[in-house]
Amino acid sequence: MSSSRFLAVVVVALAAVGQPHSEPPSTAIKLDQAGYLPLASKVALVVADGPVSEFTVRSVRDGSVAYHGTLAQPVADPDTRDRVRAADFSELRTEGNYYLDVPGTGRSWNFAIAGDVYAHAYYLSARAFYGQRCGTAVDLGLEFPGYRHDACHLLGAYHSSSGRTGPSPSLRGWHDAGDYGRYVVNSGITTATLLWAWELFGENLRGISLNIPESGNGRPDLLNEIRWNLDWMLSMQDEDGGVWHKQTSETFPPFIMPDADKSISLVIGTDHVPYKSSCATGDLAAVAAIAARVFRRLDRAYANQNLQAARKAWDWLRQNPNVTFRNPPGVTTGEYGDADCRDERFWAAAELWRTTRETVYERYFLDHFRQQVGALHQPRPESWASMGPMGIWTYLLGGGSNHAAVETLREEVRKSADEVVVRSARNPYRHSLAAVDYVWGSNGVAADYGVALLIANALHPDQRYVETALDNLHYLLGRNTFSLCWVSRLGDHSYQHPHHRPSGAQPGRQPWPGLLAGGPNRNRQDPVLKALPDLPPAKVYADDQGSYSSNEVAINWNASLVFLLAGVMGR
Ligand SMILES: [Zn+2]
Repeated sequence: MSSSRFLAVVVVALAAVGQPHSEPPSTAIKLDQAGYLPLASKVALVVADGPVSEFTVRSVRDGSVAYHGTLAQPVADPDTRDRVRAADFSELRTEGNYYLDVPGTGRSWNFAIAGDVYAHAYYLSARAFYGQRCGTAVDLGLEFPGYRHDACHLLGAYHSSSGRTGPSPSLRGWHDAGDYGRYVVNSGITTATLLWAWELFGENLRGISLNIPESGNGRPDLLNEIRWNLDWMLSMQDEDGGVWHKQTSETFPPFIMPDADKSISLVIGTDHVPYKSSCATGDLAAVAAIAARVFRRLDRAYANQNLQAARKAWDWLRQNPNVTFRNPPGVTTGEYGDADCRDERFWAAAELWRTTRETVYERYFLDHFRQQVGALHQPRPESWASMGPMGIWTYLLGGGSNHAAVETLREEVRKSADEVVVRSARNPYRHSLAAVDYVWGSNGVAADYGVALLIANALHPDQRYVETALDNLHYLLGRNTFSLCWVSRLGDHSYQHPHHRPSGAQPGRQPWPGLLAGGPNRNRQDPVLKALPDLPPAKVYADDQGSYSSNEVAINWNASLVFLLAGVMGR
């Protein structure tokens, strides 16, 4: 017997003793595939018929039992039509790598209990923005060999709809989603969410290297990455202060790598005077105002450049309060159309006030906040088209000086978070999505609930808000009807086929890492979903590159995920 065969026999024999490794995991057991924080609640969900009522949590190392528990009674979930049983092992606080064993059902995917259990998820999902960089060569290095491309989209030109002609800058930025476009409106909420993650949770992030070209330059890597996109956003501002809506090709390219897409990146406007859009201009004003605060101590000149851009954008908005954008003739890339730019302007006022403390901006905020309060109580939280909540939150986080407004708004934020907590506790899958939330990008909505809850917690510390934010994270990382981790390359069972050109252009490989999938979409806005049989809303999802309305990726969803991870790390 050769030594290698002897070893193989020993390994098989050892595996048989504890039987931990031989059985394939069962998708009937749903849990967070990254895992759980030692002091947080820990619940897995089991969808299984029959009398089974016991479960154990076992060590991956040797199959030994670390916890023994009883499944809760099944609860019917109308959104999935699953009958769900909870396996609560919150009492297990010992750090380690584990799996669940449910007799008659099987074993789960592996997971960890550890204080740094979300560090890798944060690293992958924040570094995913580097993978989306435009205007430069990208290389994920030895960790992901071959995940690279040469510099892309270096040529820009003004489209006739912009009011200009000739070549334009095409400078940096992130590819928005599965396509290679850059859109100011979606960049707005994305960049702001990441800047806020730094403002609120910078202590958790300060020392984390994202392994990007700027790493080691003395500045935090999250800010290094954010600056890449901020530079592009600033380049989209015209001399009069207005901001063009987007920079894309006229039509979506095929599934080719970014550097193989030789189309010119066109600055696209509204096709009539004043050519720039109010929503894009409001978003730039808000984001640049945040950047002016965040970069003040790190790079004063850059902070000043941002503040000047924000003020100019604000002034333009006074003249042009509601110039909306629709795709001009011949342009079929993403529209990010928004008929109401009042909330973007309101948000800009709040951020400019928080940065400058000048009364003109606070006056605007105080005159308009009543229009925006309702947005806190919509079924879904903030979104790229609904920035009112961010305006309210930033006024409160910045210590608003009007006592009456602060009292009113703090109470509204608390009520809104309580509503979400109550609804989530009733949901058999324990997340915050209502049936109406299963829309294009529903996973981003789940992450946004997490963002809203962590902001509420910053204003009214309440462990229920943190636990419910974690529950939304658990949903995204595998505690869902598909037992699927919706962050690429994370966990033992993650989705495989994103609608993402760099992933699809090299078939047969795993997808690019750290990208959050769109998630179930009851509206079935692509041919793959339309072909599915009758299904309840939370099941209308396909891990299929062709399902752009359930399996695309997007920077705004990833930003909310990064915020959520940043906020729960180390709790
Ligand atoms: Zn590019």
